[in-house]
Amino acid sequence: MLPYGKQSIDASDIQAVVDVLQSDWLTTGPMVDRFESEFSATVQSYDAVATSSGTSALHAAMNAIDIGPGDEVIVPAITFCATANAVMYEQATPVFADVLPDSLLIDPDDVAAKITPRTRAIVAVDYAGQPCDYRRLRALANEFDLTLVADACHSLGATQRDETGQAVPSGALADMSCFSFHPVKPITSGEGGMVAVKFSDPQTSATTAARLRKFRNHGIETDHRQRQSAGQFEYDMSELGFNYRMTDIQCALGLSQLQRLADFTSQRQATANHYRELFEENGPISPLAPPHDGTHAYHLFVVRCRRQLGVNRDQIFDSLRQAYIGANVHYRPVYQHSYYRDRFDVDSIRCPVADRAYQEILSLPIYPGITEFQVERVASTLNHLSQQQRAAA
Ligand SMILES: *Cc1c(COP(=O)(O)O)cnc(C)c1O
Repeated sequence: MLPYGKQSIDASDIQAVVDVLQSDWLTTGPMVDRFESEFSATVQSYDAVATSSGTSALHAAMNAIDIGPGDEVIVPAITFCATANAVMYEQATPVFADVLPDSLLIDPDDVAAKITPRTRAIVAVDYAGQPCDYRRLRALANEFDLTLVADACHSLGATQRDETGQAVPSGALADMSCFSFHPVKPITSGEGGMVAVKFSDPQTSATTAARLRKFRNHGIETDHRQRQSAGQFEYDMSELGFNYRMTDIQCALGLSQLQRLADFTSQRQATANHYRELFEENGPISPLAPPHDGTHAYHLFVVRCRRQLGVNRDQIFDSLRQAYIGANVHYRPVYQHSYYRDRFDVDSIRCPVADRAYQEILSLPIYPGITEFQVERVASTLNHLSQQQRAAA
């Protein structure tokens, strides 16, 4: 079965892990600092704080802005549930904004419509690997004094141009940007995450980074290695934190993968360009729109199976599996999950674009190492299936 995504591990990645296993520190060691500083340099942020997963990165970011009961955070309807769950962990309320039909990125007009006096932050999701419209989101955040957070779990390696035409990497486009290193993501550490910090004010960046580091270590001010080098045993737990640390084993793998990021990104972009050539423009199988003001990291390659043109996504999904092609669907609108249906007045949530897109979207196999032949087989199978369905309709 051809998967929709998978990791690429080479001899240098394996050696990096073996080296750390033979070192003194398996966790809270020097690899954590090295991964954080190289990651931060790569994404041009002020600082970066490693966490145990993308989900814990999002939770730490929500904790860092002091939200609580009664506060609202705007998130897109179409995302992995962890984006909204992180808001729930802090007892605040996720408010779902609709997405744009051509890109499935959060719709800034709907964000503006859903801002209330209780709104504290926007979490924009760089769906599939394409940065959201950060210029408009930044203007809204400034106007209403909101924190702008990027769920950048898909977009490591992507860029967006600023007003001056400069390409800004994902990780420096929002106040905080959260990344995941799960095996299907742009780089992997097995499990792992990162919060890249880039508030416009360096002082806020520094205090927020310190707070994130404390939160991932039980709310304790110092970590084990800091106390060891200072010759101290005493520590103070001043807040309720979690054990959200990333191990040195994971950081070594992440660091090694980071050296390969540019190659991974260009392979993903080449695969996406190839797919685009193989589908008819505005045809029954339509790829999402490419970015117009930057580059795309192509964590996912998403097509719409257009119902209006007689194509049925569910049938296509089943038939692809029979052809050993493991397509996938990203994502069911979060409020349609039973946990949210049980707690929210879902009928009053208006995200018609997301609801409709969910019936049509399909993520095709894309990952470093997929061959041109495999891409052609996926596209020709899909085109053939859609022609069959249309002929039968
Ligand atoms: C993967 C992902 C997460 C969660 O990351 P984990 O590392 O699996 O916890 C959050 N948001 C989005 C959009 C993701 O794709």
